Amino acid sequence: MSSRASSHVVSCASSHACDVLVVGGGIIGLTAAWRALEAGANVVVLDPAPGDGATHAAAGMLAPVMEAGFGEEAQTRLGTASLALWPEFADALERAAGLPAGAVGLETAGTLALAYDGDDLVALRRILALHRDLGLGSVEITPAEARRREPGVGPRVAGAAWVPGDHQVDPRAVHAALAVVTARATHVPRAAVSLTWADGAVVGVLDDAGTAYSAGTVVLAAGHASAALFAGAPTRPVPGTTLRLDAAADRSPAVVVRGTVQGRPVYVVPRRVRPDGRRELVVGATSDERDDNHLTRAGDVFALLRDARALLPELDDAVLLGAITRARPGSPDNAPLLGRAADGLYLATGHHRNGILLTPLTAAAVDEALGAAPPGPPGSPGGPEVRAAVEAATRYADPLRFAVADRAAPHSTTPHSTTPHSTTPRTERGGTA
Ligand SMILES: Cc1cc2nc3c(=O)[nH]c(=O)nc-3n(C[C@H](O)[C@H](O)[C@H](O)COP(=O)(O)OP(=O)(O)OC[C@H]3O[C@@H](n4cnc5c(N)ncnc54)[C@H](O)[C@@H]3O)c2cc1C
Repeated sequence: MSSRASSHVVSCASSHACDVLVVGGGIIGLTAAWRALEAGANVVVLDPAPGDGATHAAAGMLAPVMEAGFGEEAQTRLGTASLALWPEFADALERAAGLPAGAVGLETAGTLALAYDGDDLVALRRILALHRDLGLGSVEITPAEARRREPGVGPRVAGAAWVPGDHQVDPRAVHAALAVVTARATHVPRAAVSLTWADGAVVGVLDDAGTAYSAGTVVLAAGHASAALFAGAPTRPVPGTTLRLDAAADRSPAVVVRGTVQGRPVYVVPRRVRPDGRRELVVGATSDERDDNHLTRAGDVFALLRDARALLPELDDAVLLGAITRARPGSPDNAPLLGRAADGLYLATGHHRNGILLTPLTAAAVDEALGAAPPGPPGSPGGPEVRAAVEAATRYADPLRFAVADRAAPHSTTPHSTTPHSTTPRTERGGTA
């Protein structure tokens, strides 16, 4: 990717040719575009509705701890590695965008986990045992201690834990900052309809207006829609709904609160307090295996509010601003696809439930692929910890892992493949999320 990025600088606007063409302008696509621009590449971003995908609905929890699942230790390590990169990433982005420190809303105050009833507490204790095994630092606390941290915790809550390792950022603010720092790229409000292949390599993209673009490298970052352009990116839509509430600061939590209510997960993410003494709260989230139609079901709004107010009854006083439903980019094993999938094709997709968390690690992986982050001293963007994290991530998130699985599967198909050659991964599986 590095030689292609630096050797062929042509005006994208005039000739439809460029070094790096990014398909998708969500948080991941714009992050890739920013890093490519920083590497000196001439960049085009294709997206008919930039920022209106999963990024628009995301709560922005940076939660490698509470998202840790049994048997998913490698993914947890990916998340903790990316979380460690967030402060530097947020700083660099705010500086590059000319924004004040803190503008993207990174908060590192920890998370309060609540269990509504006795069964929820049993489940929470199982999770805390996993956290202990993985050294993630969570501790059980009593409901009274939980109420000392968050006075709004309801009277019926059966148990609680303090999770110092999980934080939050505002995804829409991050996306807005990325839009500023990528303003010098060429943004085309069209959808890509196919990749263009020549001699087994991706050499460009065709858009829905019939315009052909040639590119040294195509970065496929179309979220759940990536599979429609390349069968070796077996993404699927996993729609989820979040609600936006507006509440008085003293009648809403100050830190992220998440819990289970009779087995159903729910969370409340508080944004910063505004000068008028109020704040936005994000309540989420549902998760379904169905088409992405952006439609919010009434029952989902009801269920989210019912469960959120079971944990934090004072939410009854908040104003309901709206509900948003968008689809996460799921992958067969719920881990991202990050890396080169063919000559001229780099995948940055499949980030599923943790794309906001994994944004800085994605940036570092793109930097590595572009040769944009030369080795540096410990603590710097090119430092040994970052490089080790990126190396582990690119091994774990290697898009070709599905190609290996596919070779073992005798009856796999290529339903959406636009790939003329059989060396690329060809798998479509689903339903593991
Ligand atoms: C309800 C919900 C809550 C979430 N909460 C969190 C959270 O708390 N923490 C966290 O880390 N993650 C969370 N996520 C996940 C996170 O939002 C995603 O992983 C992340 O936004 C993925 O970013 P993306 O840029 O890959 O995809 P998207 O944001 O979906 O962007 C994809 C872009 O590609 C464009 N596109 C699609 N097809 C084409 C095409 N053919 N041509 C050109 N462009 C195209 C779309 O218009 C879109 O702008 C949540 C997701 C949802 C839905």
